[in-house]
Amino acid sequence: MIQKHKTLTPRLIKKLWIAFIFIIILMAASYIFITGYLTLNYNQAITQQINANVAEHVIQEKFKNAAPFLEDGSVNKELFGDLMHDMMAVNRGIEVYLLNKSGDILYSVVLEHNSNEPTKSVALGPIQDFIKTKGTKYIVGDDPLNPGEQNIFSAAPFDINGHEGFIYIIVAGKQLELIRDNLFGQYFTKLSIGAILLTMLFAAIVAMLSIWFLTKNLRVITQTVRKFQEGDLDIRIENPEESDIEVLATSFNEMADSIVGNMNKMKSVDNLRRELIANVSHDLRTPLAILKGYIETLQIKKDSLTENQKQEYLEITHSNIDKLSNLINQLFDYSKLEAEQITPIKEPFSITELSHDLIAKFKVLAEQKKINLQLENPEDNCMVFADIGLVERALQNLIENAIKYTDAEGKVTLKLLRKGNNIEIIITDTGSGIPVNEQPFIFDRYKQVNKNTQKQGSGLGLAIVKKIMDLHDTTIIVLSKPYEGSSFIFNLPTYQV
Ligand code: ADP
Repeated sequence: MIQKHKTLTPRLIKKLWIAFIFIIILMAASYIFITGYLTLNYNQAITQQINANVAEHVIQEKFKNAAPFLEDGSVNKELFGDLMHDMMAVNRGIEVYLLNKSGDILYSVVLEHNSNEPTKSVALGPIQDFIKTKGTKYIVGDDPLNPGEQNIFSAAPFDINGHEGFIYIIVAGKQLELIRDNLFGQYFTKLSIGAILLTMLFAAIVAMLSIWFLTKNLRVITQTVRKFQEGDLDIRIENPEESDIEVLATSFNEMADSIVGNMNKMKSVDNLRRELIANVSHDLRTPLAILKGYIETLQIKKDSLTENQKQEYLEITHSNIDKLSNLINQLFDYSKLEAEQITPIKEPFSITELSHDLIAKFKVLAEQKKINLQLENPEDNCMVFADIGLVERALQNLIENAIKYTDAEGKVTLKLLRKGNNIEIIITDTGSGIPVNEQPFIFDRYKQVNKNTQKQGSGLGLAIVKKIMDLHDTTIIVLSKPYEGSSFIFNLPTYQV
C-alpha cells in the first residue's frame, strides 16, 4: 500500500531556520554589546580629552590671580570651595579633590545633594600616568564617590611652599553619568531596534537563499525516492557525483539497482518455480496414469491374462514406480540444496573406490543398453577431500545422463586424472551431444534441452550437480558436440596426508 508521505525537507528547513534565528540573535546581541561598550568608551575618551587640562588650568589660575589654596599645609577651604563651585557652575559634571602626594584626599568639592561619602584616598598610578602622557591617553582612575569603580579624570601636580600634591578632578561625575545614562539608554534602544531589524532582514534573505541552496540536492533526492517508491523503478539521481550529498545519492542509486535486480531475480525465480511445478506435475502424472492403466487392466482382466502378460504388466508398473520415486527423490534433494539446508561434511575418501562402486552399480543398466561403461586409470588410488555423499550423488546423475543420452554400442567412460593439487574427474559419452547454444543452460533447473520424450527426465539432475559443485567451491564444465558425445569435467582437491 502506498502511504501518503510527509517529506523530510520541511522538518529540516525548520531546523535550519531555528539555527539561523539563533545565529541572528547571537550576532545582534554581540553587535549591540560591542557597539554599546565601544560607544561608552569612545564617549569617555572624548570627555576626558576635552577636560584634560582642567586640573592644570585650576593650578595656573590659582597662582596667577589669588592666594594659594594651601596655607601652611592646610586647605583654604573657602578659597578652594569658591573656586571649584565657580567651575562646577559651568560644568556640573565634575567633582574636585585635593590630594596630598600620597594620594590621600585633603579636601573634596562635590555637588551638595550627593549622598555618598568620598573615600579617604585614591590610587596614584593612573594619576602619574595621566600627568606623564599629558592627558593624551585614555586613562581611568579611582572614583572616590563610587568605591571600587573607575572613572575618567583630569589631574595636575602642585607644589605650594614645599607642600606637594595633586588636583584630581573626576570629569564625568555622578551628574554627567546620570545624564549620559539617560541619553545613552534612549540611543541604545534606538540602536538596538535598528540593529535587530536590519540584521533580521539581511539574515532572513541570506537564510532563505542558503536554505534553498542547501536543500536543493536534498529535494531532488527526496523527489526521486518518492517517485521510485510510487513505482517508477527506472528513476535514478542524475550525476550523483555532482551532488552535495554524493554518498546519499550514490547509495540510493546503488540501492535502487540492487532492489530492481533482486526483483528481477525473484521474478525469474518465481517463473522457474511455476515452470517446475507445471513440469513436475506433468512428470508425475505420466507414470501415475500408466500405473493406473496397468493396475486397472490387471484387476479387470486378471482371469483372461496369461502369466507372461501379468509378469510384463507388473514389470511396467515397477519401472514406473521407480521413475516416480526417482523424480520425488530428485525434487527432494534439489529443494534441500536450494534452501541451503545442506552443509557439506568434507572428509578424505578414495574417489577411485567410489568410482569402482558406481561403475559396478550402473554396469547392469549399461549392459541392458549395450553400452560399454568403463573406469579409466583405476590403479591409482586417488584420495580427495569432499563430502562423499554429495559427490556420489553428482557422479550418479552424470553417469545416469551419459547412459541415458547414449545409444546402443556407445561408450561411457569415467576418468580420474591427477592435476596438481586436484583430481580431475571426467565423464565422457559418445551420445547425442548437446547443441552449443543450449550448453550454457543445461545446469539451470528444469532446462530440458533434449525434448526427446523417450529420454525426458526431471530436468533436475544437472541442477543438483551444479549445486553440489557450488558447495565444494568448484565448477563443472561441459564439452559437447552434437551427435559425437559429451564430456562433463570437474575438479576436487586431493587429500594431502
Ligand atoms: P534430465 O532429467 O532431463 O536429464 P538433467 O538436468 O540431468 O535433466 O539434464 C538437463 C538436460 O541436459 C537434459 O534434458 C539433456 O538435454 C541434456 N543432457 C544432460 N546430460 C547429457 C548428456 N550426457 N548427453 C546429452 N545431453 C545431455
